[in-house]
Amino acid sequence: MALYTRYPPQKKAVSPAMTEPEPGPAPAAPRYRDAHFLTSAARLAQCPPDTGWEAAFAGRSNAGKSSAINSLTNNKKLAKTSRTPGRTQLINFFELSDSQRLVDLPGYGFAKVPRSVQQEWTRLMEDYLQKRQCLRGLVLLMDVRHPLQPLDEQLLAWGAAAAMPVHVLLTKADKLKRGAATTALLQVRARLDKHPGQASAQLFSALKHEGHAELGAVLDAWLTEAHAVEGGQQG
Ligand code: GDP
Repeated sequence: MALYTRYPPQKKAVSPAMTEPEPGPAPAAPRYRDAHFLTSAARLAQCPPDTGWEAAFAGRSNAGKSSAINSLTNNKKLAKTSRTPGRTQLINFFELSDSQRLVDLPGYGFAKVPRSVQQEWTRLMEDYLQKRQCLRGLVLLMDVRHPLQPLDEQLLAWGAAAAMPVHVLLTKADKLKRGAATTALLQVRARLDKHPGQASAQLFSALKHEGHAELGAVLDAWLTEAHAVEGGQQG
């Protein structure tokens, strides 16, 4: 079954003044096991230079984002497992090569978080998703037992507004029987069929190390495609 069919993505057009230096030819597929921590940012201005290729991970707190990044990179300590929701409102950058990065976006799920923290998160996420030119795609993690919560829909909407490809990881797939997990996957895909942008979905289990090849294929495509910005407006 084709899981990831509609690409290459078209990035937003940028004015010549904003254009970064020519990035050169697309790099080879990264080795995720080479990932190492680069830096953290609380604001867009603190992010590393906006060049090269990035793939970002976002999800509700406790969705399994840290576990997925650690599992993909085979590094149990790379992304720290979450603490109190809202305490860590930082974007964390992990370098794969000189020009390729994985990006761990701050988790969301605001039951116990002050409004000011929610607003700060919204501003940071909107800024990053809409303005980061080197961002090639967004991995959106959802617990397979509770997908498509309101804030997940918000992330999908931002992804669409930014013409950003989105790949949904339905995490903790081992918590459901295969039939129930497949039903959840099909329901999410039916929702994504209505998504105006490029979107795909898969099951994933960090515990069972299932779904790596599928996720790796999506990330490889995002992190190696030629830059598509040629001054054309996104349609
Ligand atoms: P984050 O807040 O999104 O970074 O989530 P974490 O990676 O810290 O995971 C939250 C909880 O879910 C932890 O207790 C993990 O052990 C658990 N978890 C994460 N991935 C899986 C999985 O694939 N299977 C199961 N059964 N539990 C998982």
